[in-house]
Amino acid sequence: MARSSRRTFLGQLSAAAAAIPGFGALGWGAAAAPAGTAWQGAPSDTTFDLLIAGGRVIDPGQNLSAVRDVAIRHGRVARIGENIPPDQARQVFDATGKIVTPGLIDLHSHVYEHGTPLGVPSDLVGIQSGVTTIVDAGTTGASMFPGFRRFVIDGARTRIYALLNLSTAGCCTDEIYLDPRLINTRAARRVIEAHRDLILGLKVRVRGRREDLAHDVATLTTARELADEAGLPVMMHWSTEPDLLALLRAGDILTHPFNPPTERSSNVFGSQLTQADTVLPQILELADRGIFTDGQLATTHHQWQVSEKATNQGWFPDAISTDVARTPDRTPASVLLPMSQFLHLGLSLEQVIERVTTNPAKMLDYPETVGSLEPGSTADVAVLELEQGRFTFGDGSRPEPQTRDLSQQFVNVATLKGGVFVKGGIGV
Ligand SMILES: [Zn+2]
Repeated sequence: MARSSRRTFLGQLSAAAAAIPGFGALGWGAAAAPAGTAWQGAPSDTTFDLLIAGGRVIDPGQNLSAVRDVAIRHGRVARIGENIPPDQARQVFDATGKIVTPGLIDLHSHVYEHGTPLGVPSDLVGIQSGVTTIVDAGTTGASMFPGFRRFVIDGARTRIYALLNLSTAGCCTDEIYLDPRLINTRAARRVIEAHRDLILGLKVRVRGRREDLAHDVATLTTARELADEAGLPVMMHWSTEPDLLALLRAGDILTHPFNPPTERSSNVFGSQLTQADTVLPQILELADRGIFTDGQLATTHHQWQVSEKATNQGWFPDAISTDVARTPDRTPASVLLPMSQFLHLGLSLEQVIERVTTNPAKMLDYPETVGSLEPGSTADVAVLELEQGRFTFGDGSRPEPQTRDLSQQFVNVATLKGGVFVKGGIGV
């Protein structure tokens, strides 16, 4: 199914849901406008449900970074302006001194908690951290996705979408799931069709080593055919092998650019044996080819030495995500952690926010508007602060992590999903 027809299909589904009496009241944000209906602008009553007043509103999609008020009505952003009179709103949240952004998007997480060893609690790294949209990047394959949906996605308060792993078994520990016998394209096709509302792409793991090239090309070719047939993009585990990169197309995503160089992984400078002084030309070319990159700094896929060398040369990934991030005390970390680290590496506040809102919103075909505060958008909002201090973070280097001291870190104060506070709020 082409992407355009996929959207039409979803619109029909939403319209059908809106036609069922009481259906809209079941979800979060009972005050939200009926799904599937176009936002009609201001109704005759000029009262807003909520005013988020006086914060520094950063929405890179609107080129906005200034003190503004955000007015919300019927679960959607109704207006952004200066000095909107508080008496026009039923409730006012004072965001003075805070940063107000679209609800954050974590483009690459693993949230099948209890279902896989990798899984972290979705709402902890989600709405509790200002993240209203999580994309689970290939934790599950065709045989596991229905359980993931039933036991995690359906009950989560955070919006969770998924990239389906090409391997039926999803991504397990070790590399067993790279076995070609675990690729079943018929099963994958069936699951994609049955869960079009949640599956936004395919995830494929390649080994990325030259000696495994034949295996990797065969795997990626299968993924390419399946993705093209389904009208979905591919997210591929990192490799700098030109034969593999040639199989990627505009709209695809390459992830894990800052791997510690080992015999099992490469990074933007190549493999362990071939580390170049500058970011490889085939990586620099990706942007011109319309291929996105996604980067993590708080996981086994990060080495400070690598990220510093790349960012000093001006190379940054398009999206910032967690993968499986951990705080120094080993608790699951949200995307706020790599956001703080990228701020440390030299991105501006606006550039950091862009990589967890506007950019990841462009990278997949979400069924609703995410990552934006444009009037008419679903009112997913994060209220953040920058805490000052000394914060030490390690990386994935073995046997000992390299550490760096940061002088500030992002903290989430409140989160709204569909115009409703799901963390913090008035009187809290
Ligand atoms: Zn991952």
